[in-house]
Amino acid sequence: MSLDVLALAAHPDDVEQTCGGTLIRMAEMGYRTGVLDLTAGDMGTRGTPEERVAESQAAARHLLLEWRGNMHMPDARLENTLSARMSLAVKIREVKPRVVILPYWQARHPDHYRCSELGFEACFLAGLKKLDEYSEPHRPSKILYASLYADVKPSFIVDISAQFERRMAALLSYASQYGENPEGGALFPNEREIRDRLGSIARFYGNLIGVQYGEPFVVKEAIRIDDIVAMPVRSI
Ligand SMILES: [Zn+2]
Repeated sequence: MSLDVLALAAHPDDVEQTCGGTLIRMAEMGYRTGVLDLTAGDMGTRGTPEERVAESQAAARHLLLEWRGNMHMPDARLENTLSARMSLAVKIREVKPRVVILPYWQARHPDHYRCSELGFEACFLAGLKKLDEYSEPHRPSKILYASLYADVKPSFIVDISAQFERRMAALLSYASQYGENPEGGALFPNEREIRDRLGSIARFYGNLIGVQYGEPFVVKEAIRIDDIVAMPVRSI
């Protein structure tokens, strides 16, 4: 397999909140996209790991993904161990992504920043010829950090106005998490609440680039611009 874009996430339903619109948009442009969830949410209050994985496959269809995998690493106690890095590196060699999207490297949930660190190191290892004898070396050329839940200035924002509804449908595939439930509350918001919350965040980022809905990313490298006359976001 050879993907153009692979998003790595700690939990099923993370990419649907942070970079799903961008994945949909890239798929609509003809790129081959994929998602690799590191855990199946086995520590979650609601739903079994089997349900979460089945829901993530339903969400994958809304996201127009070519491939979605799950590493079944331990949820809520994700560790950047040698064996975790190695198995992730071998998986990256299998799916050969050109671009990898990782969670932003600082986060409230330890799984999210560990996923970021683990993902970066696995991408590096994946490029080493002598990592193992059975797989070909492959190193992604670009790493983006999905920064929607990080309070940092994005390096760039993708216009997902035309993809927002589809991304919402993908997220609502996780009926075990977002279904109507009297015990809902803050941890398990209902559909109206989640739509309201994610809509406001996407609207905020969209506003920064003069569109309806946006998804923010951070890159560690400088961004090259070839035509300064055609830069789209107004200054005044
Ligand atoms: Zn998560």
